[in-house]
Amino acid sequence: ASGSQFIKHKASGSQYAEQKALGSQFVNQEASGSQYAELGGPAWVNEDPTHSVFSLTRDRGLICWAQEINRPMLCVLTKDGRQLDEKFVSSALRFCAHTERDTQILASQPRGRSSLSFSDYMRVRRGHLMAGVKKHEQGDLTSAVRSIASVWRFASGDSHGDMAADLRGQHAVGPADISIAHDIEIPSEEASPSLKSFRKFSSGFRFEHMSRLRRFSIGTTSNLCSSLMKKFPPHMVRFRQRVCHIDWFKFSNKTVREGVVPEVTITCDNGKVYHAHHVIMAVPLGHLKTFSNELFRPALPQSKLAAIDKMGVGTVSKILLYYKSPCWLAPFHLIWPGRTPEDTGFVADSLSSRCLQFLTLADSPHVLELTLLGDIPARAAVDDAHVAQEVSDILGHLSSRQALMWRCKPVPPPDKIVRSDWGSNPLYQGSHPYIRRGCDSENTEHLVSPVTFRGRPVLQFAGDFTWPDLSRLMHGARSSGLREAARLELL
Ligand SMILES: Cc1cc2nc3c(=O)[nH]c(=O)nc-3n(C[C@H](O)[C@H](O)[C@H](O)COP(=O)(O)OP(=O)(O)OC[C@H]3O[C@@H](n4cnc5c(N)ncnc54)[C@H](O)[C@@H]3O)c2cc1C
Repeated sequence: ASGSQFIKHKASGSQYAEQKALGSQFVNQEASGSQYAELGGPAWVNEDPTHSVFSLTRDRGLICWAQEINRPMLCVLTKDGRQLDEKFVSSALRFCAHTERDTQILASQPRGRSSLSFSDYMRVRRGHLMAGVKKHEQGDLTSAVRSIASVWRFASGDSHGDMAADLRGQHAVGPADISIAHDIEIPSEEASPSLKSFRKFSSGFRFEHMSRLRRFSIGTTSNLCSSLMKKFPPHMVRFRQRVCHIDWFKFSNKTVREGVVPEVTITCDNGKVYHAHHVIMAVPLGHLKTFSNELFRPALPQSKLAAIDKMGVGTVSKILLYYKSPCWLAPFHLIWPGRTPEDTGFVADSLSSRCLQFLTLADSPHVLELTLLGDIPARAAVDDAHVAQEVSDILGHLSSRQALMWRCKPVPPPDKIVRSDWGSNPLYQGSHPYIRRGCDSENTEHLVSPVTFRGRPVLQFAGDFTWPDLSRLMHGARSSGLREAARLELL
């Protein structure tokens, strides 16, 4: 996404892409015949003219909507598979949207009035949530909040639970946490993170937008990429070439004194070597975190390495389950919080230990899309048949509680599965960048700023993670590509 925008501006540049096509994270998957689904970024967007990917797609006449987040389809389950009453789901949705709105408002208040801590704010909010709710219903309401809040974790990719925004406290909503406290003591700024820090770290996804999100039809984002690339000669993108080394040691005063114009040397895994005056790296953050030490010669400046290190990368995995014919009666969107160590049959690190989201796809009616937090073990360790069996067991467990309207019970095993490998794939090493606790605006500056020589950029950095307000979103990636292109145009 960021790479193609760079080329748009600098027609003399080249792009080195490891994969066979642009649009890496949103590749199409074809099972058989006309059954398509997308493994990666499915492009949930708001129909909003300020959303650059939306407007680019619309202007090219490429938009075809597949579906929107549809409340009647939303089915939230308890961990034992019982469907939660709609009134709890509505309260939980309202609760999440209100906490989000309040934190925005409170964080923008003058210092002093906004020094309320997250935990104290959440304590009061939960108190309000539970007020008037019968004691025996409080557990269900808590489950609903936990499941709905986890939707936010899918959007943020926070599979490790160490994200700055978990200061909202949504990850720890349990009955023990709920106390009705109307009188709160306002702690000092040092005592606990203030609401101000939340504002700085919130990005991208908003609950208030949830009901307005719509999904592009399969292939729309790939078509957009192809459309953007059509104007340029094909040799400008060199596919299937993984960049292994970027040598920039010639950028020294000594070289210049010798009258040599310094260049960066780029070496790819097929042995090909290229030279350039400027390099824009638009590889995923996970790849950079793992390989920056061997990629750059000499090493990147310490401040850049530290900034990369401080950022977090989580993984959201996708499994597409293909059935000969749909085994469900009506479309659904299901959220299951997963099992916990106290549950019988719990296997640590199994798929059933994660929060899962199942979605039927309007434009691929035979496909069930499963999204989960964290990585799926690599194929070498756990084969497709094992994963398919595990998913069938989960569906069997859920359908046994009549949580869903299944056409057939037990739910048959899928005919085929396709799974992502973003966590273990060396080119990604994670799918969702996020701002970890301890990051601040200085960190962002170090992350984004180019490595320069005599005031000119030599190594530049783009990609969704370098656009803090919209990290992990396509339009953030696009904006970052434009930013780096503009930097060169200013020279
Ligand atoms: C499950 C999922 C759902 C998503 N849903 C949405 C959504 O609904 N809406 C939205 O806006 N965004 C969504 N996204 C996010 C969106 O896909 C990303 O923000 C976007 O793809 C990032 O673009 P990028 O150019 O920064 O990086 P990428 O798309 O990751 O591209 C980086 C490229 O660098 C290549 N590469 C890595 N190392 C090397 C190397 N050494 N040499 C050469 N090439 C290399 C990789 O192969 C890859 O092709 C989703 C992502 C995922 C995983």
